[in-house]
Amino acid sequence: MMNVTQQLLNNQYQARGESIFTTLNPADQAEVVGTYSSATQQDIDDALIGATAAFGAWRDLPVFERYAALRAFHQAIAAQREPLAEAITREQGKPISESRAEVNKALQEAEFSFSQALQNTGAAPAGARPGFRNLVTRRPRGVIAAITPWNFPVLTPMRKISPGLAHGNTIVIKPSEYTPAAVHIIGQAARDTLPPGVIQILNGAGDVASALCRSSAVKGITFTGSVATGRRIFSAASDTLAALSLELGGKNAAIIHDADHLKDVCKMVMGAALQCAGQRCTAISRIIVQQSLYDQTTAHLREIASALQVGDGMTAGTEIGPITNAQQLEKIQGIVERTHRLRHAEIICGGRRADVPSRPNGLFYEPTVIRGLKPDDEAITQEIFGPVICVIPYTDQFEALQIANALPFGLTSAVFTNDFSVARLFMERLNTGMIHINHGTAPDSHMPFGGINDSGVGAYSVGDSAINFYTTEHTIYMPSGRV
Ligand code: NAD
Repeated sequence: MMNVTQQLLNNQYQARGESIFTTLNPADQAEVVGTYSSATQQDIDDALIGATAAFGAWRDLPVFERYAALRAFHQAIAAQREPLAEAITREQGKPISESRAEVNKALQEAEFSFSQALQNTGAAPAGARPGFRNLVTRRPRGVIAAITPWNFPVLTPMRKISPGLAHGNTIVIKPSEYTPAAVHIIGQAARDTLPPGVIQILNGAGDVASALCRSSAVKGITFTGSVATGRRIFSAASDTLAALSLELGGKNAAIIHDADHLKDVCKMVMGAALQCAGQRCTAISRIIVQQSLYDQTTAHLREIASALQVGDGMTAGTEIGPITNAQQLEKIQGIVERTHRLRHAEIICGGRRADVPSRPNGLFYEPTVIRGLKPDDEAITQEIFGPVICVIPYTDQFEALQIANALPFGLTSAVFTNDFSVARLFMERLNTGMIHINHGTAPDSHMPFGGINDSGVGAYSVGDSAINFYTTEHTIYMPSGRV
C-alpha cells in the first residue's frame, strides 16, 4: 500500500489531501523516494488557525521554559542525525558526507538561535521628559510563513524554524516539493517536544506557498529561493504588508589577485564552487583572475575538476552528486549548449551530462570550466546553479572590482591576495552581503547571513540580525508619578 505523508497540523497528520505528488531519487529517477499529499485551501486555513491559536501560550511561556522545550527539540533532532542525512541525499542528491555536515551545521546554528531565547532584553534609555523612564522592548511577531528551496533540505528550514521559535513565534513551513522528507523528520521531533501548533507543515508546490503568503494571518514571510519567486512574494506581501526576509540567488565571484600557492587557492575555490554540485546560493561561479595567472589558473581548475568523482551520493567516494531535478539539469544543459555555440567561448573541461554506468537513470553533470566569455554572455550573467564555473581575466584590481560588481546580484564573494591594500579595497567596495578574504564562501553558524541588491530583502538570518525580522520593536514612555 502507498504510504502518503500528509500535512502535519497541530501535531497530527491530517488525511484530507486529494492531490498526490512524489519525490524521485536524483541519482536514479526510476526510484520513488516519497509520496505526499498536497495541501488543500482547508489545510492552509487550518494550519494558520492552529498556529494563531498556539501563538499566545508559546509567546507567554517564561523564557527558561521555552528554552528548555527548545533544548529538548534540539536533542530530538540530534538523535535523528543519520535518518536526516539519508533523507537529504535520497531526495536532494548530495554526497552523504555533505548531508551529515549540513545536519551538523543546522544543529549548531539552532544552538546559537535557541540561546537567543534568553537574550531578548531590550533597553531602558533615560527619558527626555522630567521623571520619565523610557523602554525599548521587543515582542514576537506572530505567525511566520517559511518557504524553502530544495538545495539544503535541513539547514534552510532550520534556519527559519530556530530563530522563529526562539523569539516566541509560531511557524507554518512549506518545504520544497522536491525535498520535503527531512522537514517531516524535524516535524516528528517537534511532535515529541513542542506544544501542538507551534510548527505546522504543509506539503505542495508554489500554489500552496503562494496561498499561504497571501493570508492576513501571516505576520512575516521568510523565503529562500530564486529571485523570480522572491519578486512574486514581494508583490503578494504588498496586500497584507507582512514583514519580509527574502534570501535569493547569487552569481558569486572569487577574485584571485595573487597567491603563494595558486593550486591550493584553486582547490579552495573549487570546493566553494562545486559542493552540492554547485547548487548552493553561495557557490562561487565566476573566478576573476589576474591576467598573469589566467593560464596557470585554468590549467589547475581543469586538473582539479577532471579528477572529481561524479556519482550517487550514497556511494562511498562520490565527490559530486547529481543535479536535484530534471528541470534544473535541463537549465544547466541549455546554458552550456548555447555557450558552446559561441565562437569565442572555450569549454576547457566538462560541458555535458556525466555518464555513471551504475546509475543510468541519474541526473549527473560533469564539472565544467569555461573561459573566453564576453561580459554579456548568459553563462556570465545568469545564475546557473550547477557545477559550471566561468574564468574571467583582469589587468588591475579596479577592473576586477568592476567585473565583480557588474551584475545585479549581491550575495557573497571571496578575495585571494597577500596585499593588504587590495584586501581592504575589496572589503570596502565589493557589492555583496558577505565577503571572505583568503578562503571560500562557507559562512559561520553565528554570523549574519544574507545578500544585498537582487540577492536579498530584509533582515539577514542567523546571528544577531535575525531578531529584526522575528520580533517587532516597541518604545514605551513611562512617568514615575500617578495621573
Ligand atoms: P524556487 O524559487 O523555485 O522555489 C523555492 C520555494 O518557493 C519552493 O518551496 C517553491 O515551492 C516555492 N514557490 C514557488 N513559487 C512560489 C510562489 N509563487 N509563491 C511563493 N512560493 C513559491 O527556488 P528553488 O529552485 O527551490 O531553489 C533554487 C534557488 O534558491 C536559487 O536561485 C538559489 O540561489 C536560491 N537560494 C538562495 C539561498 C540564499 O540564502 N540566498 C539559499 C538557497 C537557495
